[in-house]
Amino acid sequence: MHCPFATLPTPVSYVQMSQYATPAKLSLQRDRELKIQWDDGAQSVYPILYLRANCPCAMCRQLRESQKKSRLTVLPGNHSQPITAISAEMVGNYALRIEWSDNHASGIYSFTYLKEIAPK
Ligand SMILES: [Zn+2]
Repeated sequence: MHCPFATLPTPVSYVQMSQYATPAKLSLQRDRELKIQWDDGAQSVYPILYLRANCPCAMCRQLRESQKKSRLTVLPGNHSQPITAISAEMVGNYALRIEWSDNHASGIYSFTYLKEIAPK
């Protein structure tokens, strides 16, 4: 049986979605910001707290979802101490894993996600 979809042209939006965002240069200032120079020439700067608040792990995503429904925003994590990034490591060549000073390290920030949340 011939699959009727096999010959359909790939929609443009799909092509764009599947392209990886690749950083040419990353620099992390642990208590301030993460700066990414993308290979398309764009630059994104992420304040540390913004990054922590947008942690992509399942737990934080769920927390953000429940906060969308309420008017009260409580940022995740323990804020009795200022949050800093303790360490960061590349995961393959598609993501960055950041370990936070509030003992949270399950967030893997894919570059596609980082591009998506880049502050304008
Ligand atoms: Zn998280």
